[in-house]
Amino acid sequence: MARFHSRNPHFSRRALLGGMPAGCAAALPVGEASAHVKLSKDAVRFKKLSADDRTCRSCALFVAPSSCAFVEGPIEPEGTCWIWRARGA
Ligand code: SF4
Repeated sequence: MARFHSRNPHFSRRALLGGMPAGCAAALPVGEASAHVKLSKDAVRFKKLSADDRTCRSCALFVAPSSCAFVEGPIEPEGTCWIWRARGA
């Protein structure tokens, strides 16, 4: 299971998702999650090109061909961000 790590102690994924109802982020199917307000690319530190295999294309939140269930706007499939999540995790 992929683990989430942050170098910023004031900015956690839990805090980011804290505005959602309890369990919302983990429990909703990806398609339903897209009905919620999405996070900005800046908020999740989106990068257009991943330095490793944690690409958007391999992320559980990726919506083909170039969208994300949790992040606003079009995204690059070879990009990555702070909330990357392994499929099946
Ligand atoms: S890595 Fe981030 S932007 Fe890319 S699909 Fe996953 S959650 Fe969305």
